[in-house]
Amino acid sequence: MGKADSPATASGQSSTDLLIIGGGVMGLWAAVKAERLGIRTTLVDTGGLGQGASYGLVGALMPHMPDKWNEKKQFQFDALVALEDEVARLEAETGMSCGYNRCGRLIPLPKPHLADIARRHSEDAETQWLAGDRQFHWHVLEKTPHPQWLDTSIGEAGVVLDTLAGRASPRRFGAALVAALKQARSVRLIENNGVMRLGEDEAVLADGSRIAFGHAIVANGHQAFPLLESLGTPMVRPLGMPVKGQSALLSADVDIDLPVIFLKSLYVVPHEGGTVAIGSTSEEAFDDPSSTDGQLDVLIARAREISPMLADAPVVERWAGLRPKAIDRDPMIGRHPDHARILSLAGGFKVSFGLAHKLADAVLDELAGKPMAVPPSFLLENHLTVARGAA
Ligand SMILES: Cc1cc2nc3c(=O)[nH]c(=O)nc-3n(C[C@H](O)[C@H](O)[C@H](O)COP(=O)(O)OP(=O)(O)OC[C@H]3O[C@@H](n4cnc5c(N)ncnc54)[C@H](O)[C@@H]3O)c2cc1C
Repeated sequence: MGKADSPATASGQSSTDLLIIGGGVMGLWAAVKAERLGIRTTLVDTGGLGQGASYGLVGALMPHMPDKWNEKKQFQFDALVALEDEVARLEAETGMSCGYNRCGRLIPLPKPHLADIARRHSEDAETQWLAGDRQFHWHVLEKTPHPQWLDTSIGEAGVVLDTLAGRASPRRFGAALVAALKQARSVRLIENNGVMRLGEDEAVLADGSRIAFGHAIVANGHQAFPLLESLGTPMVRPLGMPVKGQSALLSADVDIDLPVIFLKSLYVVPHEGGTVAIGSTSEEAFDDPSSTDGQLDVLIARAREISPMLADAPVVERWAGLRPKAIDRDPMIGRHPDHARILSLAGGFKVSFGLAHKLADAVLDELAGKPMAVPPSFLLENHLTVARGAA
């Protein structure tokens, strides 16, 4: 008998208070938070835990620009600030490292007018990037502070150094979340047996067994969109789509405190263990979700151009995965308006690692009948309205 399950009957039926569907960074955080609340939970995954899009290489934790402040930016800011303590707690509970570092971010400014805009952003950051007595900055520098990391010729008009951004190792982070769950008292883990059919209060798994649930959290990455659509609501457009991303890992003995470099769509992210991640392509059309190709070669070549330290760094891994992009682009969170027991925790697209812990809290608040503090554009209800063609 599983620790969070009622015994399966002869027909293969069991029950749980909370069923979490999908064990990527979203579902894993939800399960860790549910365990802390003592909720009898079952987490199921089609494959292995943490092996979907969350098994990536990049792990940049990138704040929105500090200008035109709004609820969405505040939510992400709060999440990024809180992540430091969340990681510290997880690492203390498991004895494992998440490869987390608030290392900051360098953004080269190729044109003079961009330096003027950056100076205005700098003032915005002084007002908005404030958490208690902690102030984060958007410094505008005349030139790169790390010329071997970011070449002096890049950023003719200067460079921004923001002190809020950071990075984590997606794989180490996922492994720490899984380790926390392996020692959990109220969470049962089921791998290699995904949900094939989701009903009002029961899910049917791939092996034909059934799990009756009090509530279900749909957290299965880009596959959350068809699963939520299967609940029967007529849609004019799909609730979301997978967007392929390619990335690479280079071997380079760099200082782990160096900032992330961000230049247009290129991310260069230093990690522990003498590695640097390069990302990422953004492909809405693709034949093979897991292959890499010349588009990644272009990114690697660009990274070598801008970073002298990477000129000869060998590529040790090439990796591709599918990001979950919801129809209205923002995360897709909260109770289904027509199916009260079913909640969504999906659509993190390019920023899941910085938000998942806080989104999981929000969904568990909703489940407990408390107000769910997320921006209105994050609500599943909002995305459904768009997909139904009513907005
Ligand atoms: C190249 C690349 C670079 C990226 N860079 C960054 C970055 O720098 N920073 C950042 O924050 N984010 C980044 N992302 C995005 C981030 O990786 C994703 O947003 C995040 O991993 C999504 O997490 P998830 O838990 O929603 O989905 P996933 O990690 O995909 O997890 C979904 C899980 O659900 C399981 N599943 C699917 N269907 C079922 C079913 N029917 N029943 C049970 N289980 C099921 C899958 O097996 C999988 O384990 C990047 C993504 C890519 C591809």
